[in-house]
Order: sequence, then C-alpha cells, then structure tokens
Amino acid sequence: MAPGPVMMPPQVYQALSAPMVHHRTPVFSEKLKFVLDQLPRAFGTTQPVMMLSSTGSGAMEAAVVNTLAPGDKALCVVAGKFGERWSDMAQCFGIEVKNIEVPWGQAVDLQELEEELSRQKYTAVMTQACETSTATWQPVQEMSQIIARTCPETLLMVDGITAVASSPLKMDEWKIDVLVAGSQKAFMLPAGLSFVSLSERAWKKCEQQHLPYYYWNLKKERQANLKQQTFFSSNVSLISALYEVLKLWQGEGLAQQIKWYQDQQRIFVGAVEDLGLSLYSQNPSPSVTAVNVPEGVDGVQLRDHLEQTYQLTVMGGQEHLKGKIIRIGHMGHIEKSDIYACIYYIAHALQDLKWQLLSHEKVDQVLKNVRKELAL
Ligand SMILES: *Cc1c(COP(=O)(O)O)cnc(C)c1O
Repeated sequence: MAPGPVMMPPQVYQALSAPMVHHRTPVFSEKLKFVLDQLPRAFGTTQPVMMLSSTGSGAMEAAVVNTLAPGDKALCVVAGKFGERWSDMAQCFGIEVKNIEVPWGQAVDLQELEEELSRQKYTAVMTQACETSTATWQPVQEMSQIIARTCPETLLMVDGITAVASSPLKMDEWKIDVLVAGSQKAFMLPAGLSFVSLSERAWKKCEQQHLPYYYWNLKKERQANLKQQTFFSSNVSLISALYEVLKLWQGEGLAQQIKWYQDQQRIFVGAVEDLGLSLYSQNPSPSVTAVNVPEGVDGVQLRDHLEQTYQLTVMGGQEHLKGKIIRIGHMGHIEKSDIYACIYYIAHALQDLKWQLLSHEKVDQVLKNVRKELAL
C-alpha cells in the first residue's frame, strides 16, 4: 500500500510474462498505436504524450532540457522531497532558480506566488501536483490562473507523477504546459517507463535555443511516434503491459478507477480518524494519505512491524518526518479486501506496539464500520 510502486492488475502480470516480440512487428506496432492514441486521455490533453524508458525523473529531466535554455529563470515550489528535485535538476543544468519554500504538509501560498511572479520575470514555474513526500496537493489549477493573469509567457511545468490518472487533473483545461507521469504510480506498472506531454506553447519553446541533449530528444520522439515507432528501441514489455492498463481504462474505466481511489481514501481516512489518529497534510492529495504516528509510538518501528509481522508495505516519512508519519498510497490495483486488511493491520500493529489510547472495543467498532462501508 505504498504510494508507488503499487500493486498491479493480473492483466499486467500476464503481459509481462508473455514471450518477447521485436518492436518492429505488426503485433507490437498495433499495441503501440493503441497506447499512443489512448494516453492523451489519461492526461486530459489533445497533445501527444511521449513515453521514455526511464523512471519519472527521466521525463522531468527531458522536459527541462527540451524546453529551457541557458540563462532562463525558474521559480520552483519546494514543499517536500520532490519539489527539491525540480529545483536541483534545473540548477544542475545552469538554470537560475529561485525556490518558494513551502512548509512541509502545506500548499503553496498563492499570494506569495503572485507577488513573486509580478516582481520578477520567470521562464517557468515548476511544481508537483501531488507532493508525495508529504501527501499534499498543490493548487495547480489556481497557480495556472495566476500565471495567466500575471505573466502569460511563463511555462507551468508540473510533476504529475502521483496525480495523473489518480486525480481530477486535466492538462488542457488547467493550461499546464509540461506534464510528467511515471509508470509505477497510477499507471499500475513496474518502474521504468515515464510519460511527458507538452502544450503548444511548450513545443514552441523547444524550437528555440535549448539546453544540450542527445537521448532526451522530444521532437524526434514525437516524429517517431507519428510513424507508430519510438525514437530508440521500444520498451516492449512495459508498453505491452501499459496496453492492458489502457484497455481497462477505456470508456468509463479510468473515471471509475479515480472514483474508487476517492472512496478508498474516504473510508481509510474515516477509519484512521475513528481510531484516534490524525492526518499530517493540511491539503491532502487524493492519491496518498500521510498519517501522523501517535505520541508514544516510534514510526520507524511501526513501519518495520507492519512489514515483518503483517507483510504490509507502507512508506514512512523522509528527513525530519522520519518516524513521524506513515504514508499509504491509494493508487494501483487495490481491492476492497486490501484496504480492509490495511486498516486492520495498522490498528493491530498500534496495539502490538502498546499504543495506550487504542482499546479492543474501539478497534472492533472501527473494523465493523469499515466492513459495512465496503459491503464486505
Ligand atoms: C515517485 C515520484 C517521482 C518519481 O521518481 P522516480 O523514482 O524517478 O520514478 C517524482 N515525483 C513525484 C511527486 C513522485 O511521487
């Protein structure tokens, strides 16, 4: 139940165990065509979505080197570990970076953003949609509106790795210029495939002077995709597995998936609050929940205990949040019984670790409610 890598549907396991086919065969080309046709829908865009054989950070880097040029300035929302990644990455390529430091667990202060954007001209604003390290949603849509009225030239670059296909985020409607996703989150695949889509404005920026690259050539990737090919060898295994996921998402499939994540989160949050726990984030994301570890319990021990005694994988906190929170993902192939087991194990682990405030009666009552909600 980690916020990625996530559990995968049976169709994905089947696809991954199928015999290897060459990427220039009709069998594979047909799958690639379907995947390239369907991906934009998951992003909420009419622009092409390109696939790269890398983890999500590779697509972030591809976006940086294709759209930015030496001398450009970027304003980075740093609200946790992943915000630092945009900032470090841009600095690594010599981009002049200013960080908006946001207290962990909070959304960016929109007024502060607006003031900074009126004070100084930036080529790009870089943010997460969901800052996974703190399970916090960043107000991307509102940020986009601020950019539109203060500095319409500025590109909005969004790491949507735990937001695409797990939240209502829509690239075109929200006027996002660069949107990145990764396979091991809501796409329900192993790590190793990343996705990036650019708005028309961002494509124009690619035509101008840009940072050096050879491999991360998005223009050539797009040209190859138009011919039902990829620029380099196709990631046949992961794309064949993605084909299965996108088949599941046809019609109402994706909307139902997102709805299930919402229901699951509502039930999970209700249950942990009934157990007497509280949430860490002040602006929770729909794809992941961070729960404060209660006073008197060591969060590192709690996580180890869940893993070793109950074979339940959750994530802890990073840096100063180590031992203070546990993070539970809502993405992936999660069945009713999984979410029930997750709550059951957390309650029992807290009892095992002698959390005083939790009585057997309370645990029984909470679990009974959860079974009712899930109709189990
Ligand atoms: C998982 C994640 C990443 C991706 O990191 P990779 O290990 O490169 O796939 C980036 N940003 C966010 C917000 C994430 O949740």
